[in-house]
Parts: sequence; C-alpha cells; structure tokens
Amino acid sequence: MGNTCIALAGALRLLGADFVIPPYTTKKTLNLGSKHSPEVVCLPYKLVLGNYLEAIEAGADTVLMIDSPGTCRLGQYSEIARNAIRDMGYNVKFINMDLYKGKIFELYSGFSEATGNNNPADLIRAVKIALIKVELLDKLDNIYSYHRAREIKKGSAKTIYTKSLKLLDEAMTPGECKKAAQKSSLLFSGLPVNKYKPVLHVDLTGEIYVVIDHFSNMDIENELGKLGVQVHRKIKLSDWTDSFLKPRLFKFNETHGEKVKKLAKDFIKRDVGGDALESIGDTVYAGENKSDGVIHLLPFTCMPEIISQNILPVVTREKDIPVLSLVLDEFTGRAGFITRLEAFIDLIKRRSELKAG
Ligand code: SF4
Repeated sequence: MGNTCIALAGALRLLGADFVIPPYTTKKTLNLGSKHSPEVVCLPYKLVLGNYLEAIEAGADTVLMIDSPGTCRLGQYSEIARNAIRDMGYNVKFINMDLYKGKIFELYSGFSEATGNNNPADLIRAVKIALIKVELLDKLDNIYSYHRAREIKKGSAKTIYTKSLKLLDEAMTPGECKKAAQKSSLLFSGLPVNKYKPVLHVDLTGEIYVVIDHFSNMDIENELGKLGVQVHRKIKLSDWTDSFLKPRLFKFNETHGEKVKKLAKDFIKRDVGGDALESIGDTVYAGENKSDGVIHLLPFTCMPEIISQNILPVVTREKDIPVLSLVLDEFTGRAGFITRLEAFIDLIKRRSELKAG
C-alpha cells in the first residue's frame, strides 16, 4: 500500500528478520490477485493477494497480515487469503495480527512470531521505528505536494522525493530518521519553485487503500500535480496508526477519526465501516475551509464508500463544495480516468476564477 513497506521494513530489519519485499504492485500483480479472488471482492483484496503471491514466488515462507477493527470486508481478508493460498498448494505460515483483540500487543506478538526475536526491548524499538517512519512518510508527502505543484523544472520535485524515500528507508534509528527528514527538507528548500504561482487546492479522500496506493489510484497525486494542483491528502497512514495503535496515554491531540466524526454528524449518524465517515467529514471540512474541490476515491463494490458516495451530493449542495467520486477496479482505463480528472480541474478552475471576479 503505497510506501508503507518502508515503515514495516524498518521494523523487520531492526528485529534481524530475513524478509522479502515483493516487487511494487504492477498489472501482473493485479492479474495474479484477480485470477484467484472472488469476482466481486473489493480491489484492495485482489492487490494484497497478488502481493502475497509474488512474495511467495520470491521466496517468502511466512505471511504477516493485519486484521483491522471495522465493519467492512477487511476483517475477512486474512481468512480468505489464507484459504486461497492453501488451495493453490503453497505451504506458507500465515500470521494474523488481529487488532480486534489487542491492538499494539498483537503487533508485538506478530512481529515476534514472524522474526523469532522475543526481546521486548527490540520489539518496542521495532514498533517505535515503524511509527516514526509512518509519520515522516506522511510529512514528506505533504512537502512533496507543495513543491510538485510549483516546481519550475518538471519532475525535479519527484527526483528529490525519490531520494528522500531512500534516505528514510536506510535510517535504522530514530536519530537517523530525524537526520534523513532534515536532509530531505534541505533538499526541498533548495528546489527552484514559483512561490507566486496560483495553484488550486484539492482535498483527496476516500477508502484508505486506494487513496494511499499510487498503483491503484493511477498515481493521481502526481497527475494532479502536473495540472498545477496542490493535493491535500486527508487519509493518512499516520492517522490510522494514531487512532488504532497509539496508546491513549500518548494521544495529545484530537485524532483525525474524532474530528471527522464531529464534522460528519449532520450527514451520517453512525459509523458504517471502512472510511465512509472520513470521506464525509473530510468533504465537510473542505467546504468549510474554502478548498477548491474534493476528489473521492473508492474501490468498486466497497460498501462503506457506496454509502458515502450517495451522501456526498448533499454535502456538495449544503457546503458549496465540488466533489468528484472516482470508482476504481481492475477495469478502470487510464485515458478515461485522466480525462475525468482534467475536466474536473477545468471546472473548479473556472469556478474559482468566477468567485475571484
Ligand atoms: S473499506 Fe471497502 S475496499 Fe476497503 S476493505 Fe472495506 S469494503 Fe474493501
């Protein structure tokens, strides 16, 4: 899922594990996952299954999976994937970290079982480094988004972003992570940008997997950057870890989940699973904070997001905020997807020019 592997690899490296990172998702991964999945299951499952299969082909003999709290299909992913992999004849160990049961303690025991390292100090350091990297990855994406929309030489921000990801990946301690983040800031501050360029501000929300994963969302943030848009990605992995993994004692501020629940309350009364509340709350926030528009991403057949998609037109009307919902599955064509993006950006550009008089 996007760059999440950088954070998890940091933890596994620290625990001395011999691990396999499968190749980043490609069309081949998707075809492989789709071939062995129920037809109507949501896109993230197909991609995750494809990732497992490619990792197993590359030599992995153990698969670690997170089951997350919530009321959607994510809670069934590991069970269905385990059965599918066994039916294909692979003999791999499957470790399921069931966050319904014990949140952070499940992480400790999952990492310990997978790596054979039972040292509590190492396990705490491993989870800590993963959480630090998750937070820094999100901060890096924000800095990248600002510079990408204003870069003078096309592609120059991406070069620095790629370098920064490598620096963060190589960092082994919290101190090294801090130094990597400082070096990235320095590199970005030296990048020539047009600070006065008028850019559009678009908020990106929706189902967490497709919002974060640049394969399944056709690298939407980059495409929007090329159109001179600064993307404000509202769904972040660090918000998820804050909500579900951080002990209450260390939560000093209101979490994103708590904030969107309040914002969405006039439009939906209860959590319907997945990220539906987030999609609605984020759109209300965008309307109240004069964003130029919202792009809402959802996988085909995602039940929670079908609900939010049906509520968003009311939010558009009441909060005066344009929303484009884009449904993603293995049949989504790139050309049509980009055309819809361009049309939406044209529309909000004209709208903001009209408003400015
Ligand atoms: S939120 Fe939607 S796409 Fe994501 S796992 Fe749940 S049902 Fe599937």
